[in-house]
Amino acid sequence: MTTQRPDKHLPESLAFESLAVHGGNRVDPGTGAIRSPLVLANSYTLPEDPADISWSRTDPPLYTRNSGTNQLLLQEKLAALDGGEDALVLASGVAALHAVFFTHLRSGDHVIVSDITYEATWRLFTELLPQRYDIRATFVDSTDHEAVRAAVQPNTKLVHVEAIANPTTRVTDIAALANIAHDAGAILSVDSTFTPPPLYRPIRDGADLVVHSLTKFVNGHGDAMGGAIVGSAELVAPIKADAMVDVGGVISPFNAWLITRGSVTLPLRLRQHLASARRVAEFLDADPRVAYVAYPGLPSHPEHELAEKQFGGRGFGSVMAFAVDGDPDTQNRFVANLALITSAVSVGHDETLIVHVGTSGPRVTAYPEPFRAYGHLRMSVGLEDPDDLIADLSHALDATFER
Ligand code: PLP
Repeated sequence: MTTQRPDKHLPESLAFESLAVHGGNRVDPGTGAIRSPLVLANSYTLPEDPADISWSRTDPPLYTRNSGTNQLLLQEKLAALDGGEDALVLASGVAALHAVFFTHLRSGDHVIVSDITYEATWRLFTELLPQRYDIRATFVDSTDHEAVRAAVQPNTKLVHVEAIANPTTRVTDIAALANIAHDAGAILSVDSTFTPPPLYRPIRDGADLVVHSLTKFVNGHGDAMGGAIVGSAELVAPIKADAMVDVGGVISPFNAWLITRGSVTLPLRLRQHLASARRVAEFLDADPRVAYVAYPGLPSHPEHELAEKQFGGRGFGSVMAFAVDGDPDTQNRFVANLALITSAVSVGHDETLIVHVGTSGPRVTAYPEPFRAYGHLRMSVGLEDPDDLIADLSHALDATFER
């Protein structure tokens, strides 16, 4: 087949929407296909004399645990979308979080972690890292900058927060935390899973490493797992060497391809997610049968103004936590009465997902009120028509509270 044609040379500066379409894509030299194909091969051709190549190199393609084609293209795209020098993709968001901590921390190091984070992050810092590697964490309210500063120790190497925290939706001032971390000689890593670009790019506010669960908004279709780390080449390169090549939690080519494809529509999807979530949150907030709603887009949210400023007025994410007025059985009845909204974990999918998290368990007792008293329903608003979502919630409220 002689269908080759030269690849396009993209303009230096492109809007986010254009980058989402064209970033990390190549005309396939073998076939002339204008979208990069899925390459399932594990190994790539070696030079005639391979003696001088590094077996742990991570670019160009060598072996899929180091540098498969689809993984390299997704990395290139994510670095561009988040405004970072380099990126690394792994098999899941948790693999990406672990890779940051595993690579950039040593035994005896100290970490400051927001006291509200995704559960696996909390378990890494309360159980696995201290027990196996003697890495100690201090958990602080990341909105209390004095408390964060006071937590600094001579051996503090990392500060880790979520831009919008799972599940309480606390919003952390990333520029302020970056200053505190850098004054302490530490790096700031930000889990930005709830705030994918273009909603937010934490690197612009001084974050050193940004982590995403690609499983969520970036892929957006609920059918592939992945995780990413974006940052400077200096900080990302050792993560590739240590946590990817040597530990091996690599993403599959198929998942990298699916996520690259899903991310094409990220800016369009996000616009709908953000607009619908705001309407749904306002609906819930106005209903007296709803005990509370935590969503940064509501003026009652404690960090509403910070969120407005930090996310540039683009929106407030599409994840919220709330409870209906009643005990855990009432929350379960409410969820059972939903017809359109699906009871399942995860966020950022095309369909709206809700999960009931009760009032017991080690993690839950660390949440603030009213989360402790009521438990919470974490809901990720999807791409359905918001009128249909509101009708579903309204019907479920009526069915739950009818006498
Ligand atoms: N970070 C946050 C904020 C999350 O909500 C999640 C999963 O829910 C993860 C990381 C982990 O991602 P994954 O499920 O892709 O491992």
